[in-house]
Amino acid sequence: MVGVTSVNPGAELDTAPRLLAAVELARAAAVELAGADSVGQHEEALAEEAHAATHFFAAHQPGYRGWRWAVTLADGGADDPVTVSETVLLPGPDALVAPVWVPWQERVRAGDLGVGDLLPSAPDDERLVPNYLASDDPAVEDVTRETGLGRPKVLSRTGREDAADRWLEGEHGPRTDMARAAPGSCAGCGFYLPLAGSLRVAFGVCANEFAPADGAVVHAEYGCGAHSDVESDNGPLATVGELVYDDGVELETR
Ligand code: SF4
Repeated sequence: MVGVTSVNPGAELDTAPRLLAAVELARAAAVELAGADSVGQHEEALAEEAHAATHFFAAHQPGYRGWRWAVTLADGGADDPVTVSETVLLPGPDALVAPVWVPWQERVRAGDLGVGDLLPSAPDDERLVPNYLASDDPAVEDVTRETGLGRPKVLSRTGREDAADRWLEGEHGPRTDMARAAPGSCAGCGFYLPLAGSLRVAFGVCANEFAPADGAVVHAEYGCGAHSDVESDNGPLATVGELVYDDGVELETR
């Protein structure tokens, strides 16, 4: 007896009733594959099309909670016998399944790259654009390298904007506590090395070995207490009163 019968969207509605009713044939196929102890109650019969239907049975498989044995039956017409097309184990609506697979390129995060690791950029990486077309003339290639055209790819506008947004909001941006408390900004600091290209208007590298940002990209409006204009004050920390000598006291001598 068929428990629940449903129809695939788009399936012809005149699926042979004998396919939907052939529960025991389907069960026998599942038992033959998995063993009687692994095949539970009949849960559903799904009309696939006019000459195909799939029966689902609860699967009693350790580690496969909510999975079902799916047995697809078919016939070639009213005069042909019903046959078993395939028997497979499939996840049911409440099955415990693995998370959706995520390609490694989408799982990599900043900081994941270790020593010796390789991280190729995707062919359609929107952060990069072609720089020049390589020539097959060695003389031309020599000149291109001398003039700085030797890189096949350079940052695209998207790549530059992404980097600028990251650095602006990063730990060396103008809105950090360090920047707010600084006596001056990097733009006016002697240790500030502006970047090349369009990013030089807002970013540079700190070259002060005593600054926390030494060797890092800093925003022009970032700053720290190691600013080159900071001058040391060698005076006393507290006002020292005039020294007073009391020569009216005689020291006892023995
Ligand atoms: S020393 Fe401080 S103010 Fe100067 S460039 Fe480095 S971070 Fe900026």
